[in-house]
Amino acid sequence: MDDLATLGQRMRHFRTAAGLTLDQLGADVGIAASQLSLMENGKREPRLSLLSAVAGRLGIPVSELLSPAPPSERAALEIELDRAQRGAVYAELGLPAVRPGRSMPDDVLRALVGLHRELTRRSKQAIATPEEARRANTELRMLMRTRDNHIPEIEDLAEEQLRAVGHTAGALTHHEVDLIAERLGFELVHVGDLPHSARSVTDLENRRIYLPPASIPGGHGLRSMALQAIAHRLLGHEAPTDYAEFLRQRLEINYFAACCLMPRTQSVQFLGQAKTDRDIALEDFRDAFGVTHEAAALRFTNLATAYLDMTVHFLRVTDDGAVAKAYENDGLPLPVDVTGSTEGEIVCRHWSARRAFARTNRTTEYYQYTDTPQGTYFEATQTGTGASEEFSITIGVPFSHSKWFRGRESTNREQSRCPDASCCKRPPSDLAERWSGKAWTSAKVHAHIFSPLPQGTFPGVDDRELYEFLATHAES
Ligand SMILES: [Zn+2]
Repeated sequence: MDDLATLGQRMRHFRTAAGLTLDQLGADVGIAASQLSLMENGKREPRLSLLSAVAGRLGIPVSELLSPAPPSERAALEIELDRAQRGAVYAELGLPAVRPGRSMPDDVLRALVGLHRELTRRSKQAIATPEEARRANTELRMLMRTRDNHIPEIEDLAEEQLRAVGHTAGALTHHEVDLIAERLGFELVHVGDLPHSARSVTDLENRRIYLPPASIPGGHGLRSMALQAIAHRLLGHEAPTDYAEFLRQRLEINYFAACCLMPRTQSVQFLGQAKTDRDIALEDFRDAFGVTHEAAALRFTNLATAYLDMTVHFLRVTDDGAVAKAYENDGLPLPVDVTGSTEGEIVCRHWSARRAFARTNRTTEYYQYTDTPQGTYFEATQTGTGASEEFSITIGVPFSHSKWFRGRESTNREQSRCPDASCCKRPPSDLAERWSGKAWTSAKVHAHIFSPLPQGTFPGVDDRELYEFLATHAES
């Protein structure tokens, strides 16, 4: 369509430049002026024999007519307006298409095209709104629920990489991560000036993966980040076109990194033995592989249903009770908003995820039985302190599976009736009576989990920062 529009524009341009009317040129090449007009408007495709005749009459080579460039700025604008008016964004508005005929002044045409460009830009921006992000995130959680939070293809891919570098037991070392990168033809480079918005940057031309400085010994953060960057390459990711794809890619690279740090074979062996011993404890799993409690808990959800025959739930909750991350395939009634999204929603005060904050001794896991309308669950919670707030990490299973876990003899037991508001959301009636209408407060603005993202090729990362960074380092 665009090709035809450009061809038509070029035919008109050279005809008027030659000082010929449609009638004159039509008569000279043996075609009706009305047909020629349709071709100049991009509505009909001229045959090559006709193009030769037209070019011959106008004294130019046929290649001049067939060039893909619009013949003038005016023509380029007309083509762009035509294309914008045929697009889906404009069609939704139900407005008439305007023909940029010769009577339309240049500035009117420029203004119209400028408005169309802005309309397109805004419609693209709307894709990255927090609402869109929450919706995409919920869909992904529901999808992973149907898969028991397990992705066999990525498990296989990770085991293949580990085998190739000779990793068979224990925690994955930095050196082994280097070797995995090397096999892919990449060099890991630690730098102190990564763009603020990026966790890692890959220079595809010079085959380098830039990571933050290796200044934090121990911890799995750096290995994990390097493995995530490697995963993008192994999984053949392209720049994401929407938020859903961005989230899916993020899930996949996190999954791959977790598979490398806690390999399937060894993890299933370790957890299977613990189950046989009726002594499953997340802290042991965490320590055996040298990862964070959260990483171990998430990895447990990947393997529990597929290999240990148990359904499970995972919660990361901040000290104000809000869900930062959650997963369940055991029926736990997660708090959700009208769209089904759980992030930022407040969990029941009686759940282990919140009760654990009240303890004074937080060095070990807190165990609790929680009665809910969906049944009783056994939960193990570990609290921690993040960059700006306290949080708790919980793994829970239906009561029937509690027998496999350390802490099952716990006498902690709580009744939860949430989402019934009388459970813990509504204030007691005596307090409500006493204070209703006699109090005033102003709210903390809750940190949004899915805030709008800067508009770059990669969601959340500023293109300018990214390219300036690459330019600086490619020369060194
Ligand atoms: Zn409650």
